[in-house]
Amino acid sequence: MNAVTEPAPAAAAAIQAIAPGTARSDPRKVVFEANKLSKRLHRQVGQAIGDYNMIEAGDKVMVCLSGGKDSHALLDLLISLRERAPVPFELVAVNLDQKQPGFPEHVLPEYLQRRGVPFHIENQDTYSVVKRLVPEGATMCSLCSRLRRGVLYRVARELGATRIALGHHRDDMVVTLLINMFFGGRLKSMPPKLVSDDGRHIVIRPLAYVAEADLQRWAEHRQFPIIPCTLCGSQTDLQRVQVKAMLHEWERQYPGRSDNMLRAMAHVTRSHLLDRNLYPFESLKATGVADAAGDKAFDDDACTDPTRLESVALHLKRAADLEG
Ligand code: SF4
Repeated sequence: MNAVTEPAPAAAAAIQAIAPGTARSDPRKVVFEANKLSKRLHRQVGQAIGDYNMIEAGDKVMVCLSGGKDSHALLDLLISLRERAPVPFELVAVNLDQKQPGFPEHVLPEYLQRRGVPFHIENQDTYSVVKRLVPEGATMCSLCSRLRRGVLYRVARELGATRIALGHHRDDMVVTLLINMFFGGRLKSMPPKLVSDDGRHIVIRPLAYVAEADLQRWAEHRQFPIIPCTLCGSQTDLQRVQVKAMLHEWERQYPGRSDNMLRAMAHVTRSHLLDRNLYPFESLKATGVADAAGDKAFDDDACTDPTRLESVALHLKRAADLEG
């Protein structure tokens, strides 16, 4: 584990990331907070890997490293977890250099050498392809990520990787769920584990339980060499920005809401949605047998909403008044 036994690097930003408002002269608090964050991250990643059986003995895990905070944290945590994992597995970090203008190509190889982790840099000029094919002003992300995915699958095959690890986190999953609901009319998010489009690999998301804010703090604390994600000059995905801002505001007003939404994704009641492919509504028949779980037909849980509670109480009072 990346347990912290001495004060975080002297940089004030790193200290503030871990323990906001802490003076540099209070290293004990910084160490305490950093250890707490480290433990939480390791626990959550270990839990997600275990819950979804993401990694098995003998796996070769290809960690896709873009140079952003999320993929840096993913690699960092997997390196650390591997050292004390109950099963042996290999790691190989892969960066796809898409030849975006200004991409600092020396940064990741130098960092990865320092970390002592096997790595591969794949040079493929998908940037020019996207620029050539996508009309000026249109969003490039869809084609860009499709090309990137194809290259990464090929590289995984060439490296003999059995798992492809991506750095998507809890907030990515919740935001994707909301975007698909709001704009796509689908109840669908990002799975923690799936079979790749070419059918040859298992793609895993070990950060599925991790909050983005924690990754941000960890990245600042560990001082990863971050490569900015704006080099391609693509327009910002407005839907994602809006939904993220909304989620951020909800989280501020009602802490824990994002975690609840993630939990909801893992506790789906098929009979209480409308998908006829998931539940046999047409052939539903009264069984004549009492259900031990019971009381599930009308459970919209409205009574946990304080505004609804008030109106229910008012209604009951009026009924009592009338009877009186
Ligand atoms: S932001 Fe840039 S690099 Fe990322 S998917 Fe979009 S076009 Fe590609």
